[in-house]
Amino acid sequence: SAIPPVMTEGKKQPFDANEAPSLVKELKESFRTGRTRSYEWRVSQLKGIEKMVEEREKDISEALYKDLSKPEFEAFVSEIAAVKSSCEEALKELKQWMKPEKAKTSMTAYPSSAEIVSEPLGAVLVISTWNYPFLLSIDPVIGAIAAGNAVVLKPSEIAPVTSSLLSELFEEYLDSSAVRVVEGAVPETAALLEQKWDKIFYTGSPRVGRIVMTAAAKHLTPVVLELGGKCPVVVDSDVDLQVTARRIIAGKWQLNNGQACISVDYIIATKDFAPKLIDALRNGIEEFFGADPMESKYISRIVSSNHFSRLERLLDEYKVFNKIVVGGQRNQKKLKIAPTIFLDVPEDSQLMQEEIFGPLLPIITVENVKDSIDLINSKPEPLVAYLFTNNQKLRNDFVQNVSCGGMVINDTVLHVTVSSLPFGGVGESGMGSYHGKFSFDAFSHKKAVLYRSFSGDSPVRYPPYTPENKKL
Ligand code: NAD
Repeated sequence: SAIPPVMTEGKKQPFDANEAPSLVKELKESFRTGRTRSYEWRVSQLKGIEKMVEEREKDISEALYKDLSKPEFEAFVSEIAAVKSSCEEALKELKQWMKPEKAKTSMTAYPSSAEIVSEPLGAVLVISTWNYPFLLSIDPVIGAIAAGNAVVLKPSEIAPVTSSLLSELFEEYLDSSAVRVVEGAVPETAALLEQKWDKIFYTGSPRVGRIVMTAAAKHLTPVVLELGGKCPVVVDSDVDLQVTARRIIAGKWQLNNGQACISVDYIIATKDFAPKLIDALRNGIEEFFGADPMESKYISRIVSSNHFSRLERLLDEYKVFNKIVVGGQRNQKKLKIAPTIFLDVPEDSQLMQEEIFGPLLPIITVENVKDSIDLINSKPEPLVAYLFTNNQKLRNDFVQNVSCGGMVINDTVLHVTVSSLPFGGVGESGMGSYHGKFSFDAFSHKKAVLYRSFSGDSPVRYPPYTPENKKL
């Protein structure tokens, strides 16, 4: 059912879905003036984002706290600083990224030269989600601007304070003839999706990803889909247990309390080793969040009562299976759920069927750690797969044989901070990628240009195909 558009504090008129066609028209007209193509415009907008983050850091951090109780330090590191560094990199590298790339030519085109010219696509739409509502909104916009496009951002209505702040900040700091925010929920997004965009960049669930791609297909609009899935972590028994436990905790509860697309969704370990791992995780959780994690200020809350109920339903499965080994506490009023671990959850349980996207962590056990590869490959491709091991052979087999968007060996999450690595999914976890130059490329068309002169025009190439003509 349709969710009403969320407009906080009555500052702005809500977006009227009927205005979607004129909005796109206006942006395309701005694009056609050629202004957004210039290096200077791109730099001015990227600097606008930098200035916005510098001057309004406190407001951004407060909005993230209101939407998610995101701890200030976490908000700074994972959203604010991440946007800053993305913007800095784009400003530093932009000239280089914009340079045409020389390409080899072939004998058939001799003599000639060739290059690949990156050209902006036009008016692009970015639809973002609620879990990193600042980073996941601005980061693709940085790519869209760097590549010289006009862009509309539609933030998530489930993080309404950040959505409203983004709308205010864009108006204040950016060129509103070419960079806009449209707030709203399903009806507004649906109206935007009916329009002909030159690219749609969507972050969210695979279910809505299908809706986006279907809408885009009507206009032959290309898409980047940054989706989710169940990200496994395989833990071999030869690891440094304490380091492994800490890094798993960091990749689960420290990360927005598990509400992250790259958060650890489930663990695979051997039967013998699982109890040791559970002990180490239990100790680590206590070390990080205290004896009662429900009272910790270092952990985000669940974003909404809908998501709380969804997680509660998953949590209640333990009553049937009686598999809970750590945590299990919840508080509906505060929208809090403690870090919770389940051992030996059946494969056909809901916990193992849907993306958890919260603080619940099932462990499934295998006879031999090698079996984890087949197990992961028997499920839809995850956005990330993690492996902890000291075994070189296992590591190589894992890298060669597990299909997923990306991988981290002996840690979690850190690959997102390496901007020379493309970030994106495969299969059910999405298509296309971004970060660093990949963001610029995601919003550019790679135009093939071949240069020839008038010399060397041999008749061999033209009819009539007679022996005389072919003699040269
Ligand atoms: P969400 O509910 O915020 O939805 C995302 C966006 O889709 C919002 O802007 C929303 O307004 C819009 N939307 C929702 N329903 C729609 C509909 N029927 N038609 C058109 N638009 C619609 O977020 P979510 O989908 O709950 O996000 C969680 C999912 O996102 C998880 O699967 C997670 O793994 C994934 N995710 C992926 C990444 C990534 O970078 N790959 C990052 C974060 C989250």
